[in-house]
Amino acid sequence: MDEEAQQIAEIKNKLATVKQNIAAACVRSGRELSSVRLLPVTKTVPAERLRLAYAAGCHEMGENKIQEAREKSETLKDLNIKWAIIGHLQTNKAKYLARFANEFQALDSLKVAAELDKRLQIEGRSMDVYVQVNSSGEASKFGLAPDDVRTFVDQLPNYSSLRIKGLMTLAIFSTDHDRVRECFIKMRNIRDMLRQEAPAGLSFEELSMGMSGDYELAIEEGATIVRVGQAIFGKRPLPDSHYWPGVG
Ligand SMILES: *Cc1c(COP(=O)(O)O)cnc(C)c1O
Repeated sequence: MDEEAQQIAEIKNKLATVKQNIAAACVRSGRELSSVRLLPVTKTVPAERLRLAYAAGCHEMGENKIQEAREKSETLKDLNIKWAIIGHLQTNKAKYLARFANEFQALDSLKVAAELDKRLQIEGRSMDVYVQVNSSGEASKFGLAPDDVRTFVDQLPNYSSLRIKGLMTLAIFSTDHDRVRECFIKMRNIRDMLRQEAPAGLSFEELSMGMSGDYELAIEEGATIVRVGQAIFGKRPLPDSHYWPGVG
């Protein structure tokens, strides 16, 4: 096998393992396999390797920095990749997001909502959007405080180009499974509340939660999207504290 074929095979293997674990978590919790979407997270993975990941079956890719995502989407524009932005967005970057991204999972401010809506209208398109909630209460994490979600959501019908799909969170980084699970349960309860009380036209069926270290727990607690990077692409060169200041 040449080196590229070998790398493709390696990514396929990792993907297969993650998918097996997802399936097992679904069985444990009595859920349909089709109710969980795996979003491969590709931040820091170079574009050339993403070409191989595409060949291995990753056709959706999650990135947390808009600049990095933009560059990769340009380099790989011959492939039919759906890009998900899963990290904090500065208002002045909304125009880039509106051009190439398929979905945005980190909405936590009305300023960003307004600007993104405006930019999407200019582009003549709409976008799937998830509201980010800070379920762990850690100051290092973005997202709305759980108590603020309800009022925030009431404003979203003003932004008709945003197709609200659900909620996103990062759980606490802890080896204590109970504390991690608590974050996921909190999210499920907020989602269930919004299903009853959110304004008409908004949908809160989706729960994007769970990463390489905790996606199986997240599925047991109701995740419909898991965002998995390192379990597919290997350890990132920099520690988590680089991406989430104050953590790790
Ligand atoms: C990096 C990242 C992930 C994936 O983390 P892994 O540990 O690589 O699985 C998930 N969600 C967000 C928002 C991220 O930035």
